[in-house]
Amino acid sequence: MAPFKAKTLSLAAPVTSLWGVGAERAAQLARLNIHTIEDLLLHRPRRYEDRRHFCAIAGLTRDRAATARGTIVAQGLKRFRGGTKSVFEFVLDDGTARLHCRWWNLPFMGKYFTVGDEVFVFGKLVEMKPRTMGHPETEVIEGGEESFIHINRIAPIYPLTEGLPQRWLRGLIWRMLEKFESQITEPTPSPDLKTFPARANAVRIIHFPEELSDVEIARRRLALDEFVELQMQIQSRRKHFEAKSHALPCGGDNHLMKPFLARLGFKLTGAQTKVLREIRRDMGGTHPMRRLLQGDVGSGKTVVAACTALMALESGFNVALMAPTEILAEQHFQNFSRWFEPLGIKVQLQTGSRKTVESREPRAENHSRHSPSTLDPRSSTLSIGTHALLTSDFELLRLGLVIIDEQHKFGVTQREQLVRKGNYPHLLVMTATPIPRTLGLTLYGDLDVSVIDELPAGRGRVKTFMRTADKLPKVWEFIREKIAAGRQAYVVYPRVEEQDTANDIKAVTKEFENVQRSLAPYGVGLLHGQLRTPEKESIMTAFRANQVQALVATALIEVGVDVPNATVMLIENAERFGLAQLHQLRGRIGRGAHESFCILVCDTKTDEACERLNVLEETADGFRIAEADLKLRGPGELLGQRQSGLPRFRFGNLADDLDLICCARELVARNLSGSLKNT
Ligand code: ADP
Ligand code: MG
Repeated sequence: MAPFKAKTLSLAAPVTSLWGVGAERAAQLARLNIHTIEDLLLHRPRRYEDRRHFCAIAGLTRDRAATARGTIVAQGLKRFRGGTKSVFEFVLDDGTARLHCRWWNLPFMGKYFTVGDEVFVFGKLVEMKPRTMGHPETEVIEGGEESFIHINRIAPIYPLTEGLPQRWLRGLIWRMLEKFESQITEPTPSPDLKTFPARANAVRIIHFPEELSDVEIARRRLALDEFVELQMQIQSRRKHFEAKSHALPCGGDNHLMKPFLARLGFKLTGAQTKVLREIRRDMGGTHPMRRLLQGDVGSGKTVVAACTALMALESGFNVALMAPTEILAEQHFQNFSRWFEPLGIKVQLQTGSRKTVESREPRAENHSRHSPSTLDPRSSTLSIGTHALLTSDFELLRLGLVIIDEQHKFGVTQREQLVRKGNYPHLLVMTATPIPRTLGLTLYGDLDVSVIDELPAGRGRVKTFMRTADKLPKVWEFIREKIAAGRQAYVVYPRVEEQDTANDIKAVTKEFENVQRSLAPYGVGLLHGQLRTPEKESIMTAFRANQVQALVATALIEVGVDVPNATVMLIENAERFGLAQLHQLRGRIGRGAHESFCILVCDTKTDEACERLNVLEETADGFRIAEADLKLRGPGELLGQRQSGLPRFRFGNLADDLDLICCARELVARNLSGSLKNT
């Protein structure tokens, strides 16, 4: 039977153009995200079954899933509880023993099987006497022309959806491969075919491998193609951007930087200096800077941001700095005001609830957006804010530089929205979530990366311990000792989402009373996401001034808060946080000269959820922790809900495929520079 209505179908043709795929099948396939022939060819098996060798029923065990093959010798449906419950069972015989296969409350299973059928079953035993499997995966063996697709080979087992038979889908994919394999061509750019199998070959192997060991080789080839496609998008976007834009001259002349550094009170670390050199090259270069600044918590990104801002301000341009929370924007506002106002630079704050300074010369400035020569650097402004900076009525004239703090809290769209307020300003984005390289290259592939890989000297270390909840009295005693010695403490409770919910608030408010009791007579403050901004501010101010000695908070304090005298952090229900998030939280302490202590309290110590926290006891290296988090929980969890820019891969695996991502990046870079020379 010719499976097609027409001969000239392309891979992009919808599945409905195939014979045998009607509206109902098409709807089922759509639920699996299969719309075109190409989607079908790239539908990835979820596992494989080696149907060249079977397990004898007599050899099945409780602890390993295996495939057996036999003939149905009996079957029946039993109903009980007045017909509301049922169990369907058939008995399979393969000559070595009998196997009972059972399905609870799926009475219709009966209609798929008949005594005498030969079937495959896959599963583990749930009982030994008699040998029984519960809800095994099954497939009836049918003879006929196409039986070779399904038996006596390694057979793919696909993700399915209700009503879609495994066997039907496998047959369809087989026939599609036969018909369309020749249309699967090498993409541009394609890798060295000495190192990777050809794409068409890889597609066949992913469905019908001759050996199981071939599957991974094929997967890697297909993953590489996915990364190449993404890199093409990222790198050509950047090429396009560079071709269109000329850079605003923001190299600066040090006349503000010098007094700033002289008054700072500490020397920049080697890493900070190195990064600033990279930044200065960009700011005075021919293309607008697009740079990601990565540095573990406490590595001193803020000072680098300040120096970068000064370069633009010295050059007569204005600067915008966007932070993800009001607390953080407020903190930056305080720091930058303290640093910059003595230099004659205006610093203003723009958040949802607050707007400090109106421009001294509002709107009247009629300077063209790009003629800095007519500008007086002393009228330059640094605007700090939350996403309130993005609102349309907020205008930034002569915008030379955009700085975004804690980039991972914003989407790429928000970042570009702020950039578009100017005319190709320079861009510096900062992140303290140490993003594993695989993620960095996929998310921020269009940015150059600078890393601050050194902490300022003279920092107290952070010791991390795990404790079970029954040890809390001792923990409180320990915290009281530290407070008595003049230090301060954070007590953190988990929140569920980006926003604190009413339930979280109730929990944290109740805990607040407990903490007050445990730490009396010391002062305790409470901070959560539903307080209004002035309340938050007054609590933070009191804590900074050591008027309260402990701060009970939801994970809201995670980003950026900087109070060096706080040296103890107690994190309750630590098992509910991700590793990277705990590491961020822990970064709030260990910021002064005193030794710091982070105590992770778990409900039960044996829990798997708790065991993964061991990494935190063992290392303070944010990158290692983020890698572990990526492996354990996947990229979505690591980056949080907000991170929208993350593409979905069928074959690519961000936790393991760093080499492929690098390979894709190089392939594309070579290809693009080649194509540019040709034009
Ligand atoms: P993060 O990278 O987490 O944003 P911050 O910029 O908040 O870190 O810096 C953490 C603390 O370290 C701040 O109190 C800051 O003033 C201080 N700091 C930054 N750079 C240095 C340095 N070179 N020497 C000493 N202290 C520094
Ligand atoms: Mg910071």
